[in-house]
Amino acid sequence: MTPKVARYLSHIHPATPCLVLDLDRVEANYAALRRALPLARIYYAVKANPAAPILDRLVRLGSAFDAAGIEEVEACLAAGAAPEAISFGNTIKKASAIARAHAAGVSLFAFDSDEELEKLATHAPGARVYCRIRVENHGADWPLSRKFGTTIAHAARLMRRAGALGLDAYGLSFHVGSQQTTTEAYDLAIARVAMLFTDLTESGITLRMMNLGGGFPTRYRDPVPEIDDFAAAIMGAMTRHFGNALPEMVVEPGRAIVGDAGVIASEVVLVSRRGDDAVRWVYLDIGRFGGLAETEGEAIRYRIATAHDGGPTGPVAIAGPTCDGADIMYERTGYHLPLALASGDQVHLLATGAYVTTYASQGFNGFAPLAEHYV
Ligand SMILES: *Cc1c(COP(=O)(O)O)cnc(C)c1O
Repeated sequence: MTPKVARYLSHIHPATPCLVLDLDRVEANYAALRRALPLARIYYAVKANPAAPILDRLVRLGSAFDAAGIEEVEACLAAGAAPEAISFGNTIKKASAIARAHAAGVSLFAFDSDEELEKLATHAPGARVYCRIRVENHGADWPLSRKFGTTIAHAARLMRRAGALGLDAYGLSFHVGSQQTTTEAYDLAIARVAMLFTDLTESGITLRMMNLGGGFPTRYRDPVPEIDDFAAAIMGAMTRHFGNALPEMVVEPGRAIVGDAGVIASEVVLVSRRGDDAVRWVYLDIGRFGGLAETEGEAIRYRIATAHDGGPTGPVAIAGPTCDGADIMYERTGYHLPLALASGDQVHLLATGAYVTTYASQGFNGFAPLAEHYV
């Protein structure tokens, strides 16, 4: 937790559950990625946390933006982003959303099918388009592979068709999966996509952009490679495949920009051991429906800090406060928490700045959506 977040929590005592997020850490993360990959343009993946103070800060820093929906496009514009600095990166868009983005001046769109390409040709004539390639998501704790992206052979046909439809066949993209913990994933993906890029260019379709997606991890329970390790793998692969004729490079980090900037403060509602329970059950005032959606399958394993840390611990299951049996965060991962932990205590879920606030339900069981404080 950053000193600013710690100060806010100890001085202001905001009601729980809430997210407190340090905007200076967002800026530091952005700057670190710029330093590591100076040749790549950064398009912040707005869906990771679309809060206005984050968008404002990133606009000031000169970031571009990857928007998943028309509301995110409009939030970026409202924050002062130029339409040319916005990519509509979802491959699944309503015709009306494409038309609205196009009318607002957005001219860069993702697709991965003939059907979406035809929609783009109709509702965003002349736009720059890039095709998403399906790549392996091994090593990603939150994979994105089955729902998006197409094969190399299909992408080649699609990019040829784009020009015939009056669109600008601009580039190729991939996403190695979110919370990607291996640098090799980028290596392998770049090798695959660069080959198609070169083949198309040699056949007369001059692509200009390689979009390497997001996926850069946040440190949760387990250590992850540094951003410089990812940058070295990426630049190594790019120069291996393109020599000194590098295309325009785009990265779309979400989690790596905001993840470790935020902390959730939560109250322990109950610590209990019932009947034949092997472990204590710790119920927090935030759970799967309060924003911790990425605990599904125990995929993202947040670190939890308590005031009793350092004392003796024991195994626990950790669950949310609702009357829903699916509202369990961790049962199999093997969490241990202090034996002194009791109802009424406050705990801190660390590095929860990404993919939390917008996942909170609207009043399920009467619980309000997660409160947010940007400092
Ligand atoms: C979600 C998403 C991102 C951001 O991914 P992170 O793992 O948060 O960096 C980037 N690009 C696209 C197309 C996405 O869908």
